[in-house]
Amino acid sequence: AAAAEEPITPPVTVPHTQLLINGKFVDAASGRTFQTLDPRTGELIANVAEGDAEDVNRAVAAARKAFDEGPWPRLPAFERQKILLKCADLVDKHNDEIAALETWDNGKPYEQAAKVEVPMFARLFRYYAGWADKIHGLTVPADGPYHVQTLHEPIGVAGQIIPWNFPLLMFAWKVGPALATGNTIVLKTAEQTPLSALYVARLFHEAGLPEGVLNIISGFGPTAGAALASHMDVDKLAFTGSTETGKIVLELGAKSNLKPVTLELGGKSPFIVCEDADVDQAVELAHFALFFNQGQCCCAGSRTFVHEKVYDEFVEKAKVRASRRSVGDPFKAGIEQGPQVDSEQFEKILKYIRSGVECGATLETGGERFGSKGYYVQPTVFSNVKDDMLIAKDEIFGPVQSILKFKDLNEVIKRSNATRYGLAAGVFTQNIDTANTLIRALRVGTVWVNTFDIFDAAIPFGGYKMSGHGREKGIYSLSNYLQVKAVVTPLKNP
Ligand code: ADP
Repeated sequence: AAAAEEPITPPVTVPHTQLLINGKFVDAASGRTFQTLDPRTGELIANVAEGDAEDVNRAVAAARKAFDEGPWPRLPAFERQKILLKCADLVDKHNDEIAALETWDNGKPYEQAAKVEVPMFARLFRYYAGWADKIHGLTVPADGPYHVQTLHEPIGVAGQIIPWNFPLLMFAWKVGPALATGNTIVLKTAEQTPLSALYVARLFHEAGLPEGVLNIISGFGPTAGAALASHMDVDKLAFTGSTETGKIVLELGAKSNLKPVTLELGGKSPFIVCEDADVDQAVELAHFALFFNQGQCCCAGSRTFVHEKVYDEFVEKAKVRASRRSVGDPFKAGIEQGPQVDSEQFEKILKYIRSGVECGATLETGGERFGSKGYYVQPTVFSNVKDDMLIAKDEIFGPVQSILKFKDLNEVIKRSNATRYGLAAGVFTQNIDTANTLIRALRVGTVWVNTFDIFDAAIPFGGYKMSGHGREKGIYSLSNYLQVKAVVTPLKNP
């Protein structure tokens, strides 16, 4: 039995651990490195160059030069498009290695990475490649004898800071629109998951991306991240992470050069199961909405509101479903849940579980670590959760489902909206009037009706309230990376 518990050897070796600046892999100026760990065991995967303010300066200088003097913003849009399509082709070609790196560093099931996330990454770049040659301004009818037009220009050097829960997809949501619109980039990966971005960025250079256009800094938030957010030569900042850090980077952006900042932050999304629900289907979808990606989704349906008429049956079935969730080595076929990303998240989740028990919520299943090594957590379900409990208010970011009972629609609308967050919501009903009422009343950036976590490239994603500013993906994301220049010339013979 002991042998069977040995972690599966990942089908890949780590190809890159240095910073990527101006098209070349280089050590950090300080020479320092940090460890990236295997969440299955807590053991070392690799020592990675630790970027700091000086490296951010070097990377921003390279991006600045590539923007001001390089070919990228001035290339015919069709040439940019061809390179982005080639990037996607190379990602397809190396699908399995990229997926293996993602699983090794993050802990997500390999099947999910290889069959869904890497293909979706390539799809996102093809989507943005499609936009590259379709960006243009307007001719504007103005009062007086003037010819008025707008030019849509790239904003310049984009600073991008991403989290660890979807390292590749967060890269694509940010890098895709910025490159399609002709910007240059310095991207800081999350310190927990630096590996996959270095691999794909190297492929992008093979695909013909000119040097300096895409620079990758591995490193920590308060050092490398803060240096990027407060850099005077960064023209735009895009951030995904916690609401607390979002406030910090917004302030750094304002205090330095007032760079525009888009923020994709935390959530505490309601998943509302109405009285007409087919309970089996509702249980399955609510389970997916919360447990997907080890519960590490900013939009996780983490407040499962269930109508009193179906509540008891729902709780019983949700408990059975969670207790049957297959947890184990993410490289093993058929595994639904791997380890949490690191010891900090692991400890934090266990603390929230203890607080749920102490507050008097009913622990239906789970509640402890899974196994004896690594950062695995048992799929956990609480029923009888009250709105004022910490587990109903805070973002847990783990496999912990909180089930709350409701009586009527107005009540559940009020309770759903009674949060500082507003990222997403799930609605489960066959009644079109109920659905329409909820769709309009919920103060959130995405409503999924009878589905959840659909992340098509064309669908905009972002938050209301303290879940953030701005939208990523889809047509809406392009404006984050464009300036509008108004051009006015007098008409001699109107
Ligand atoms: P989490 O708590 O999920 O790790 P964070 O918001 O702390 O979320 O992290 C998201 C990203 O923000 C990571 O790349 C992290 O390094 C970065 N980050 C953390 N603190 C700061 C900071 N003070 N300034 C800039 N970036 C930061």
